[in-house]
Amino acid sequence: MRRFCLLALIVSISISASSDSDAQLPGIYTRYSDALQTLTDLQASHPEICKLDTLGYSTRDSVPMLRVKISDNVNIDEDEPAVFYCGGVHADEVLGVEVIMNFIQDIFTRYDEEDPDAVAYVTSLEIFCVPFINPEGHIVVEEGDTEWRKNKCDNDDNGIFDFHDGVDNNRNYDFGWSIDDGLNATTPESLTYKGEAPFTQSENIAMAEFGWRYRPLVALDYHSPTYGRPNVAYYPWYWYSNEGGHGYGPDENLMQSICQSFTSLIEAIPDDSATGTYTARRALVNKGDFKTYFYGNFGSAAFSVEVSDTTIQDPALVDEIIAAHLPGQYYLLERALGPGITGIIRNSFTLLPIEAEVQVLEHINADINPRLSRPDYGRYRRLLAPGNYTLRFLKDDYFTQTIGNVIVTSAGPTEVDVLLEPVNPEPVPTLSEWGMLIMALILLAFATVAIIRGYGAAYGSGRFL
Ligand SMILES: [Zn+2]
Repeated sequence: MRRFCLLALIVSISISASSDSDAQLPGIYTRYSDALQTLTDLQASHPEICKLDTLGYSTRDSVPMLRVKISDNVNIDEDEPAVFYCGGVHADEVLGVEVIMNFIQDIFTRYDEEDPDAVAYVTSLEIFCVPFINPEGHIVVEEGDTEWRKNKCDNDDNGIFDFHDGVDNNRNYDFGWSIDDGLNATTPESLTYKGEAPFTQSENIAMAEFGWRYRPLVALDYHSPTYGRPNVAYYPWYWYSNEGGHGYGPDENLMQSICQSFTSLIEAIPDDSATGTYTARRALVNKGDFKTYFYGNFGSAAFSVEVSDTTIQDPALVDEIIAAHLPGQYYLLERALGPGITGIIRNSFTLLPIEAEVQVLEHINADINPRLSRPDYGRYRRLLAPGNYTLRFLKDDYFTQTIGNVIVTSAGPTEVDVLLEPVNPEPVPTLSEWGMLIMALILLAFATVAIIRGYGAAYGSGRFL
């Protein structure tokens, strides 16, 4: 109790020290209920290209994690590259929500104006946006606790939402989770508490399930700096050897170059924090966070963007800040259609699509997980710089296949379809075996008819009554 009083005192001092207003989220910031209404309206006005759905539900209050899909034929999963833009994982970093909501509204406006680029993106991509990765935390901020960061997980299981609670949803993925074992990560009251184990939080499970289903080429996660640098995007990665890694990620040059192109298009707002543009910085593998998970498993160009220089920025600057992010957001849509490799992997006998590992031998090390084709279409995709690559396709019980001299140009992805040969193919029936099979089926059909008739007669005769 004494501890609680002390914390309450510290909080009240810090609030009164940091702000002379009452600690309300300024009205310009989107409430969860506002977002739900806006997105519902967009779906109603654009039913062919906008689908509002639920990615998952929050851990404690089961608040839906709103997911918007923007694509033609929006009600089916097409064989198109997926792009994933998210915000709001840290509840008080509310600018991320604004950046996502603004992007969603902007692309529909451009589509309505028949902007050819917007039409091309909607037609060629599946664009998924999640404005609130942590919706229940955002509602805490809306209700006045403007420094709340985590979700509301009931850590001490006492049924009361208090300062013991909450898990940092950007620390609860499994990839790299065990590396951070400091007090900040393991103390439930800490702002960056990582949870008792990876994937204890339903928000993280939902995000991972999305990743495995769609394997996005680009994945963005918008933050604002609670501590740390303003106006920066972090790309994957560097992994220290004393923490189990092998240094630079195997796509270092590619990720750096895409991230630099992206950040060079985001103008800093002079009254905000800086002049010039945002900067690209290499991130460390040192915790179970979003970009590590998406790059580590899928090879996504996965960036965490720190918007502005503070969490809840002066309302007068918000419109300018979020508008400045649009060029970067559109650039990554364009890049998703740009240089790389793609193709469909099939079983050479059945011609059915299969999930198999695709290695780019120039871009591989021991730290990344196998990049797999999607099981539904057998489709793999990877962003690459123009160049000459060697690809290797692997799957248990199939012969490995290596294809060299694959030329990637700046024009767009190079197509390399693959037939993988099973080591022990299912034997194809011979002609006489087919004959016997057909005879057996005919006999079975006769027998079935006879049995049904027998039952019918018996039933009709009243023997079963
Ligand atoms: Zn954050």
